[in-house]
Amino acid sequence: MWNANARVRVLIPAEALSARISELAAEISRDHAQTERLVVVGVLKGSVLFLADLVKQITVPVELDFCQTASYGSGQEPGEIHLKKDVELPLRGADVLVVEDIVDTGWTLRTLLDLFRHRRPRSVRLCTLLDKAEAREVEVPIDYCGFRIPRQFVVGYGLDWGERYRQLPYIGVVESASEEIP
Ligand code: 5GP
Repeated sequence: MWNANARVRVLIPAEALSARISELAAEISRDHAQTERLVVVGVLKGSVLFLADLVKQITVPVELDFCQTASYGSGQEPGEIHLKKDVELPLRGADVLVVEDIVDTGWTLRTLLDLFRHRRPRSVRLCTLLDKAEAREVEVPIDYCGFRIPRQFVVGYGLDWGERYRQLPYIGVVESASEEIP
């Protein structure tokens, strides 16, 4: 539940996010200099702020699309990933760049990458702002990674806790008096 008194400790300040995103955009632009069709797919909702800042600095033409997943599961077992919203653009022959907020267990991205590969794109690459590598349960190839972070629950810059905190301009950790764990 939302705790109005919760404090958020800054883990990655806005300036560090901005500097790293410029580097990622330069690298992505370089790697796709020869590409004919680059389709950037944001995974809703958490990637939206990151994606907006990233694509503004990509210097090759891009097409934008979005998908959304939900996870069935108790939190004890690996979640079964279900597609709530599919992309609308055709991916066949395109260079696809999936943009995610965070890779945790890896199940979401493993499912999405497998799905998109079946549509016969020229390539599929993954760009994630955050990587919680210690929590990985299935292997996911990450082509572009903003920051590796420890295994803790983070919010801000698109990431939520019960739909709150997405608007924070930095990545933070909720330091709450509440007993409830997200
Ligand atoms: P995975 O399938 O890799 O376990 O989880 C991916 C999704 O879980 C992310 O897209 C994100 O929605 C959510 N998630 C994982 N770790 C965190 C976290 O520390 N904070 C928030 N807000 N969401 C997280």
